[in-house]
Amino acid sequence: MSPELVVDLAAIRHNVRVLKELTGTAMMTVVKADGYGHGLAEAARAAREGGADWIGVATIAEAVALRESGDTGRALCWLTTPGDDWAAAISRDVDVTVYSEAALIEVLATGLDARVQIKVDTGLHRGGAPRAQWEGLFARAAAEGVRVTGLWTHFSSSDEPDDPANDDQERAFDEALALARRHGLDPEVTHLANSAAAILRPSARRDLVRCGIASYGLDPAPGHTPDLGLRPAMTARAHLALVKAVDAGDAVSYGRTWTASRPTTLGLVPAGYGDGLPRVGGNHAEVWVAGRRRPVRGRICMDQLVVDLDGDDPGAGAEVVVFGPGDHGEPTAQDWAEACGTISYEIVTRIGGRFTRTYV
Ligand code: PLP
Repeated sequence: MSPELVVDLAAIRHNVRVLKELTGTAMMTVVKADGYGHGLAEAARAAREGGADWIGVATIAEAVALRESGDTGRALCWLTTPGDDWAAAISRDVDVTVYSEAALIEVLATGLDARVQIKVDTGLHRGGAPRAQWEGLFARAAAEGVRVTGLWTHFSSSDEPDDPANDDQERAFDEALALARRHGLDPEVTHLANSAAAILRPSARRDLVRCGIASYGLDPAPGHTPDLGLRPAMTARAHLALVKAVDAGDAVSYGRTWTASRPTTLGLVPAGYGDGLPRVGGNHAEVWVAGRRRPVRGRICMDQLVVDLDGDDPGAGAEVVVFGPGDHGEPTAQDWAEACGTISYEIVTRIGGRFTRTYV
C-alpha cells in the first residue's frame, strides 16, 4: 500500500473563512508550489468556496494551470523571467506583476489589454523594483497608459512581528504609493501582507491580504500567532511494512547512528527522503503508531525509515501517521519542521514522491 496524503478541503475552506473574517479585507489565497503541496487546483477551488476573492500564484505556468482547472476569479502571478509567455496569463484574465521597465515593455509588446500590478522592493531585496527605479517605472507606466491595477510589496520579517524592519517596509510602501499617485496611477488594490502580517499586523492589511501557509492551517509565526482555530489540512500516512525485534547493541540504518540499549521492537515505514521527508529528521522526528508517538531511529533512507515501537507490536500493516492536524496527539508538520531545523512550509511543499493524494 503506498503512503498517502489526505487533504481535508473543508479545513482549507474553514481557514480561508476564519482569516477573511479576522482581517476584514479581500482575501488572496496563495496556491503556488502545487498549493503548498495540497494540490493547486483543489486548494484553489476550496479557497474560492471559503470566500477567497483572489488566487495568487508565482509563475505564468501556475496561472495557466489555475485557469485550466476551471477557475475564473481574480488571480495574480508574480514571478517571470525575460521571454516568458506573458500573453498566456494576460489572455486568461490573470493580473501580471512587473518590477522593471523591461518587463513592462514585454507586457506592452503582447498588444493585450493587460491588468498590471507593480511590485516594489521595500526591503526584502528579492523581487520588486528597487527604490531607485520606482519613479522611472511609474512614469513609464503612466506614459504608456498601462492599466495599473495594483501596487504591492512583500515583508522580510513578518514572522518576527517586533522586528523594526516591518515598520520600515510599511513606511517605504506608503512612500511608493504616494509617488505612484503623484504620477497619476490609481491602483485598485494595494497589498503587503502574507499570513503572518495578515494575522499579526493590522496596519498591513490594506485592500487585500495574501495568505498561503495559514490557509493550509499551519502557523506562520510560531510563538507569536494567537489561537485562531485554524485546521491543518494535510495528513501524511502510511502503513508499517514490517515489525521486527532487535537485541541490545544492535545499530539501526545507514551509518549505525542509533544503537538499541535493550531488546527493542522496530517498525519499518515505507517512506523516506525520496518522498520528501527530510533526511535530517533521522533520530529527531516522530511518527504516530498504535496510539502513541514513536521516535524515528537512525537515518531516514530514500524509501524507508525505522521507528521504535518500544516493545509494542501492532503488526505489519498497522497505520502510521507521519504527521497530521495533531488533534489526537500525532506529530504535526510543524513538529517535523522543528525536528528537521526548517519551517512547516518546506515539509508540506516537499512531501510527494510515492505519497498519493486523496481529498476528503
Ligand atoms: N505573497 C508572496 C509574494 C509570496 O511569495 C508568498 C509566499 O511565500 C505569500 C504571499 C504567502 O506567504 P505565506 O505562506 O507566509 O502566507
